Amino acid sequence: MYLFSDFISLIYPNICMACGNALHKNEDHICSRCQYNLPKTNFYKIDDNPIMRLFWGRVKLKGASSFYYFNKGGKVQNLLHQLKYSGQRDLGIKLGRMYGGELIQIAEYETIDCIIPVPLHFKKEKKRGYNQSEMIAIGLSIVLKKPVMNDVLLRSKNNETQTNKARFKRWENVDNVFEIPNPDLLKGKNILLVDDVITTGATLESCANQLLNISETQVTVATIAFANL
Ligand SMILES: [Zn+2]
Repeated sequence: MYLFSDFISLIYPNICMACGNALHKNEDHICSRCQYNLPKTNFYKIDDNPIMRLFWGRVKLKGASSFYYFNKGGKVQNLLHQLKYSGQRDLGIKLGRMYGGELIQIAEYETIDCIIPVPLHFKKEKKRGYNQSEMIAIGLSIVLKKPVMNDVLLRSKNNETQTNKARFKRWENVDNVFEIPNPDLLKGKNILLVDDVITTGATLESCANQLLNISETQVTVATIAFANL
């Protein structure tokens, strides 16, 4: 007897979104081989790591880490592309859950009060159908058992895509892009700020600065990928 899901998988073969190989029945989105072999940074196990250093002299974070290294043309790039441009929102939840499985083993992540995804401008989110960072935040939330607060930090300006800009300009165009309409909601909170990828850190710096303007907040940054440009 065939189940409906078997029928669907005949039309849409279940493939690993990192390597493109067929998935086994007990796998979803990412095959076991990729889960084992994807290039973990292990930065979350050390306080003084390259992500932390990226923010030195810019913003005072409690902690910062990335799950994987992002290599051009590599499997992590495939995953982020699927997450952002192919409507694979469940992949974001999956990645968040996988990362959460690592972070839950680290003592300092136990004291997190809430998880905040880097927001998209509402027009961009409407166009994409979801915010990929929010999907990652949901995955983290399931494992870390901390709430996602996705309506406290807003992107008030729809700045154009950063990928084709010169590095210098990328630093500039995230100033005053984010706002927090009700800062009282976050007073004294230990916040996990989540994004899909970190490159220069300008976007996360801008968000963190807004969050740290609120009295007695602490911010730890977590991203799925670290693009060491
Ligand atoms: Zn794979």
